[in-house]
Amino acid sequence: MKTQLTGMSLSQLTDWVKTQGEPGFRARQINDWLKKGADFEEMRNLPANLIEKIKPIASAQPAQVMERHVSKLDGTEKLLFSLEDGHTVEGVIMRYRHGITFCLSTQVGCAMGCAFCASTLNGKLRDLTTGEMASMCYLANRLTAPVPLSNLVLMGSGEPLDNTREVFAFLHHITSPDSLNIGARHISLSTCGLPDQMRLLAQEGLQVTLSVSLHAPNDQIRQSIMPIARAHSMDAVLDACRYYIQQTGRRVVFEYALIRDVNDSLDNAQELASRLRGMQCHVNLIPLNDVKERALRASTKAQVERFLNRLTELNISATVRRQLGDDIFGACGQLRAQRLKTPLMEEGRS
Ligand code: SAH
Repeated sequence: MKTQLTGMSLSQLTDWVKTQGEPGFRARQINDWLKKGADFEEMRNLPANLIEKIKPIASAQPAQVMERHVSKLDGTEKLLFSLEDGHTVEGVIMRYRHGITFCLSTQVGCAMGCAFCASTLNGKLRDLTTGEMASMCYLANRLTAPVPLSNLVLMGSGEPLDNTREVFAFLHHITSPDSLNIGARHISLSTCGLPDQMRLLAQEGLQVTLSVSLHAPNDQIRQSIMPIARAHSMDAVLDACRYYIQQTGRRVVFEYALIRDVNDSLDNAQELASRLRGMQCHVNLIPLNDVKERALRASTKAQVERFLNRLTELNISATVRRQLGDDIFGACGQLRAQRLKTPLMEEGRS
């Protein structure tokens, strides 16, 4: 595999450049291009012989934009990236009033097996590297220019805490002034709830927002839709959340996809509120994106409203997440799943 330059810190890149027999100052020049999303061909202030030398052994952008789908409804962009080994992963650019958010993947596929999620349909193929994740951010940032990305969410395909080594390195990298300098408070990491790794994240000294995919008010319902819940009880997950809050001083966000007749009754809302009482948290209610491959349907709008109202009455801070990009396979893993089934030519691009 080629050396991925995008994941390196400036000092690592400087060392690497020196091992190639080049002066260390070239590292900053290269890095300036990398974070603009540029490939070797564009690095015009570097000597041609240097580029010729490193090109066969290093990659400037280990991810490439392969497809770009722009929503006619709200300007959301779904990107399909190709990686050097031929795998593909998704990313989504979302435009809000307060800025631009990029949602990125952390693995190719996912091993967690959640019943409602398209990312996990073919299991996990591999972890993404720091360099690939950084490259996706650089390319997305290039596409939104002149407005830079202001927020990142690790909510694409994959379980970020099943890839802690690369994901933690990525978080340190992307928040650095030598990279995109995105404040940790502007980054959300979403997990299906791996308590040990949540504690490790708390100890990383980063101020990222921890989002936890709860999706149920008790173990029984949680186990019926999330296999990982058989390994970790809700109590264990909530304990790890309390630890995160205590260590970082940040509130935790709970994601709760409302699934018709599975987890959307008012009793479920009541039980959820009692489990979360006293915690510094916010509940994000997500109208389920129907996944055809799975026989689970979204709750009705009226039921979502009733569920939200019940939580609010019980003094639990909660909101319903706006749905973006419905016309471009906005939900996790949907575009990739679609692409694995239908070759590009047959479908007609949007
Ligand atoms: N593995 C991580 C992050 C990726 S998924 C996690 O589990 O949190 C990002 C969010 O989208 C999670 O809350 C996930 O449960 C949710 N999600 C997946 N499929 C969905 C669907 N069909 N409808 C609504 N939300 C979905």
